[in-house]
Amino acid sequence: MLQLENVHVSYGPIKAVRGVSLEVKGGEIVALLGPNGAGKTSLVSSVVGLAPTSAGKIRLDGADITGEPTERIVTRGITLTPEGRRVFADLTVGENLQLGAACRKDRDGVAEDLETYLELFPILRKRYAARARMLSGGEQQMLAIARSLMSRPKMLMLDEPSLGLAPRVVDQIFELLHGLRSKGLTMLLVEQNANEALELADSAYVIASGSLVFGGKAADLKASGEVMEMYLGLEGH
Ligand code: ATP
Repeated sequence: MLQLENVHVSYGPIKAVRGVSLEVKGGEIVALLGPNGAGKTSLVSSVVGLAPTSAGKIRLDGADITGEPTERIVTRGITLTPEGRRVFADLTVGENLQLGAACRKDRDGVAEDLETYLELFPILRKRYAARARMLSGGEQQMLAIARSLMSRPKMLMLDEPSLGLAPRVVDQIFELLHGLRSKGLTMLLVEQNANEALELADSAYVIASGSLVFGGKAADLKASGEVMEMYLGLEGH
């Protein structure tokens, strides 16, 4: 579904991503891991045109989307939930969710999806009329994810959904992601929380200093002591 071929991302003289190639197949969950500052956010931002791709090609379902404006890429069916739980704080939970579907014209489909996600995220049903700013950090993250899903993307990219959340809340977020996985959603997941991400993912890529140091099956990464230890600070098993 998504193919990156030798992608470079530069901010003036700063080379954040140096020639990364990766693939996400339909129905697959792919984890993108690596230490702080490795270039993960830059890479997913470049896919949706929010960071400058200075070289390389990005293809979605075979179509070259490199350098297209963000709005057009999102219309093609790929959505990024950025780091930091960006929700519209002064709008209600319901309004945030409806805004996620603003680009859609199939009203019946929107109502159906709303019901699906309120079922999957019961806390959002409970807090439907509350302003988003009244929600806890974990609830805001759930809202940010559900809002992205309301655009009915073919593929969802999540940038560090568990960042800054208490361990119990991190577990809830991963439980949700497992729920989405069982619905067949295609996902590219950026995570610091490598162990949890590898439980969920089919395949994984590890980047360090802008370059790929691993690409393959999640199970193979777990078994690879060297990469786990050197780049993720974990013991392989
Ligand atoms: P983190 O886990 O800390 O979010 P990351 O792996 O997502 O890190 P990036 O945020 O993509 O990494 O950053 C990669 C490099 O690019 C870093 O050196 C960072 O300082 C730099 N960088 C990121 N965004 C910009 C920007 N807008 N302008 C200049 N440099 C940037």
